[in-house]
Amino acid sequence: MTTKLSIPKIRKTFKHVIAPDDAAYDKARTVLPGDIDRRPAVIIKVTNADDVAQVIALAKETGLPLAVRSGGHSAHSVVEDGIVLDLSLMKNIEIDAKEKTVWAEAGLTAIELTSATLEHGLAVGFGDTGSVGIGGITLGGGVGYLVRKHGLTIDHVLAAEIVTADGNILQIDQANHADLFWAIRGGGGNFGVVTKFKFQLQDMTQAYGGMLCLPATPETIASFVSEADSAPETLSTIANVMTAPPMPFLAEEYHGKIIILAMLCYTGDLADAEKVIQPFRNIAAPLADMLHPMSYAEMFPPDNPDYHPLAVSMNMHLDRVDESVAQTMLTHLGGSTGMMAVTQLRVLGGAMARVPADATAYAHRQSKIMANLAVIYQDLNEKPKHEQWANEYKKTITQSDKGEYVNFINTVGEKELEAAYPASTLGRLRQVKAQYDPTNLFKMNQNISLYLK
Ligand SMILES: Cc1cc2nc3c(=O)[nH]c(=O)nc-3n(C[C@H](O)[C@H](O)[C@H](O)COP(=O)(O)OP(=O)(O)OC[C@H]3O[C@@H](n4cnc5c(N)ncnc54)[C@H](O)[C@@H]3O)c2cc1C
Repeated sequence: MTTKLSIPKIRKTFKHVIAPDDAAYDKARTVLPGDIDRRPAVIIKVTNADDVAQVIALAKETGLPLAVRSGGHSAHSVVEDGIVLDLSLMKNIEIDAKEKTVWAEAGLTAIELTSATLEHGLAVGFGDTGSVGIGGITLGGGVGYLVRKHGLTIDHVLAAEIVTADGNILQIDQANHADLFWAIRGGGGNFGVVTKFKFQLQDMTQAYGGMLCLPATPETIASFVSEADSAPETLSTIANVMTAPPMPFLAEEYHGKIIILAMLCYTGDLADAEKVIQPFRNIAAPLADMLHPMSYAEMFPPDNPDYHPLAVSMNMHLDRVDESVAQTMLTHLGGSTGMMAVTQLRVLGGAMARVPADATAYAHRQSKIMANLAVIYQDLNEKPKHEQWANEYKKTITQSDKGEYVNFINTVGEKELEAAYPASTLGRLRQVKAQYDPTNLFKMNQNISLYLK
């Protein structure tokens, strides 16, 4: 353990400090991925932008590595023998219901902010998981249940407050530090610590959605993707072609078999909901049909905070999923020796695709289908075997679209960065990085400085 830090001194500066000897330490250093076991020198829970500036100063003074955490859903937000800047106490929300905007602090989770805005009949889309931090998901893009109707999370960011590597607290938007404002919408945590975002909110009264389970055959998978593509933009879907868990509402004969477990979210006129959903029910006799009118918040059932899965996952985009591609998926999923193998398919398009590729640092606007290939496994020693499975699977189904979504990339290298960002985007991001973080203080992320050319 480092000798560069004086914990008693740090406790005099900050109110919420967790050190290795504290009872709260093990819980506080834990992030969602189950294979990450790092021991930081200190975790500092900040409460305002001045605190953030002081933690940045401490990192520079000690030379210790700095990790920034909002929701802790990635491996990047904890660092061995370094400083964790934890924003999770920063949860202030200021809603302007008339203007339909909100200032939201970066320590909020997606469901915390969504629940608050829904009280005003308003929402901004995040992902498919309530416990994801709005900090991480927003900085990478944000692809969720409103993606076809309203676009990405970043398409709703009007302004932000950010503390940069020099300790300055900047208010940024289209008119102020426009280059930095462009970069934080897709460029991740490379440029500073965002303490709050201003989001444009959308009207959200009621949704119609939930889970639909279907048998998985080449025909049903291809049909699902085709229906999702031709459905109105008011419907966004996530189809998980996966090993069925032993869910009580699913007949036992399907437990452990590959099924389609789909999440559908319709947010158009409720009178049309059944009509829009029906083609999915027609694909095959549903194994479980839990679609119903609901509050949009119901799309995010409570997460288990103690769930820390061992998972290997890979992100990619596909141009099409026809029956032959679907057959390849089924073959590979059936060949996994993990506890649960998944191919998650998100048909994109709609509002997300109407934003020009260079308007934000998220450039994969024309990608048709996002796919996550994942396996949940039990024995860490078997990780290489599952990585090999995922690599081979990905190689087999790769099509013309080589882009990857930065928030779903786990390992970062030149190849991954080039997949995450087209050359022009990456070049521009590196210029902004050179201006605002020339020493790469913020490197615990999908780091764009790794291979500076
Ligand atoms: C179960 C699960 C489901 C997911 N579903 C979706 C989905 O549907 N759609 C989607 O788009 N993504 C999804 N993701 C990916 C998710 O968006 C990323 O993992 C995201 O980075 C998590 O953000 P976080 O704040 O929770 O994580 P953290 O680990 O806290 O942060 C992630 C990264 O962002 C940086 N960061 C976080 N907050 C700040 C800040 N305020 N300022 C500067 N840097 C910051 C961190 O340093 C780190 O590099 C999912 C992830 C998981 C684990």
